Amino acid sequence: MERPDSNSLSFDEALRIARDLAQDASTLVHYPHPGLENARYGRGFAFLQTIRTDSGDWDAYVLVTTTRRESGVLSMAERTIDGLIAEHLAQAEHENRDIPDSELSTAHRVALEAYDGGLTRIDEMPGHRALDAQRADYAEYVLLALRRNHKQGDSGRKILAHNDFLLEGPTPGRRYTQPCPHCGRPTFYEERYPRAVCQQCGRRTTDRSGRRVTGFNVSMSGGMIAYYADTVDVPDGSGYEECDEVSRTGRCFIDGHPATMQEARFGGIVIQLDSTDQPDQGSPRQAGDGRLRRAFRRLRHQ
Ligand SMILES: [Zn+2]
Repeated sequence: MERPDSNSLSFDEALRIARDLAQDASTLVHYPHPGLENARYGRGFAFLQTIRTDSGDWDAYVLVTTTRRESGVLSMAERTIDGLIAEHLAQAEHENRDIPDSELSTAHRVALEAYDGGLTRIDEMPGHRALDAQRADYAEYVLLALRRNHKQGDSGRKILAHNDFLLEGPTPGRRYTQPCPHCGRPTFYEERYPRAVCQQCGRRTTDRSGRRVTGFNVSMSGGMIAYYADTVDVPDGSGYEECDEVSRTGRCFIDGHPATMQEARFGGIVIQLDSTDQPDQGSPRQAGDGRLRRAFRRLRHQ
């Protein structure tokens, strides 16, 4: 039953992962499913489990595949294990489908060619001249999204297949990218964060002394905490050392230039270069929000 492909997942390995995921590992039972266990994409194993609660026993499941690891309740949500597996396999097939040329616009094709050629910006592509400014902006956005999701596939088309929203095409009038305010490379445009730097510049963020820092959300509901990057990179994750000053004030630096690290509105962390050299670019309302949040943080720390 073992396959030599790099995505192979043995039963024993799946069982070990399922035990970790299960609410009560002692109730775990293998649910044989030849379609899942021999699937071309998303191959894996399913298990049933019972969750005992004060209000009775719940039927639940654990799914461990090459693309998905999850556990959940069946009885409450009126789901069946066969239904879940069918859904999973359909999704795995969808994410590995071949996208025909007819589904791709010129902007997509230019972005794909640039991505597969290892280029980082659209204007390095001869084909970009065929695009007007708005479509070139969208092609740049698709290229950035492909590069950000490079782990999802070995070609640009495979990554597109994982991200249906990228095939919908541009929304008229929307701006998608802007030059990074620090290095000038293209980066995602967000109206709320006009001074947000690109991913590469963000990785060079330091505290006042020049030591690299990385920001994280405190929890799913937000908040920001900054750690020294060299303590986060340690593989066992044991020695995270917080950078109190950046956690507390958001004040940080990129190549010595002052910047601010903060939690983004819908999760994640955003790093914005200060607008001292171009005072007209920062919106006063956002600056006010930042001051308010910092004041609030100081209050909480007292
Ligand atoms: Zn940059």
